[in-house]
Amino acid sequence: MAQFDRQQVAARLDTRQQEIEHRREELHRNGDGLTSELADYDQHPADQGTETFEQELDETTLIILEEEEHRVREAKKALEEGRYGICVDCGHEIPRERLDAIPESVRCVQDQRLYEARLRQRRVGPSPI
Ligand SMILES: [Zn+2]
Repeated sequence: MAQFDRQQVAARLDTRQQEIEHRREELHRNGDGLTSELADYDQHPADQGTETFEQELDETTLIILEEEEHRVREAKKALEEGRYGICVDCGHEIPRERLDAIPESVRCVQDQRLYEARLRQRRVGPSPI
């Protein structure tokens, strides 16, 4: 089992969670502004392309934030249950350097890559071409 300072990891995870919450609050504030602009759609059909693009950007950011928050929660749970530092997919130890860089890592590099590729596929859907 990898050696790490449990309290230090817990503190870093708390910080990450606060950052995510803060960013989501900001996004919601911007989102409110966007909603009032959306009401003008009928009057300005020419602007629709830009508005839709901005809205999609916000939605993508929200999905990423939710995903990050989910990971932080997973990592906290793993820490409580003594599974922290073990990849949830393959069961191997996550390298210490990776945990230092990204404390909420719950997967090894390879499995995280696979996981994100699957997420992206679901998010983007079939190619428009
Ligand atoms: Zn793995």
